[in-house]
Amino acid sequence: MFNRPVPHGELFTGKDRRRHLITVDDELTAALQRAVDHLRQLIEHSSMPRPVHDNRCRRCSLRPGCLPETAGRRIDLFTPRPLRDTDD
Ligand code: SF4
Repeated sequence: MFNRPVPHGELFTGKDRRRHLITVDDELTAALQRAVDHLRQLIEHSSMPRPVHDNRCRRCSLRPGCLPETAGRRIDLFTPRPLRDTDD
């Protein structure tokens, strides 16, 4: 943006409450460009990415609504479920 080199950045992580030095190299720049391209695609198609359902979900405040456990399954809300056998 300002046509100046950016050789590194710093990332603060709350878990260890430390800043970590991040070297900005060609590989990181390419990964960032791919992420930005992917985000632009999602915005253009008005679609949400599938939930990840990994360790990041463990303490996520959005989990009750996100339902990441269903990420790999198609949920059909409108077809009645078969009746269960009961031992009554
Ligand atoms: S619960 Fe949903 S929003 Fe939260 S981290 Fe997992 S996939 Fe992302």
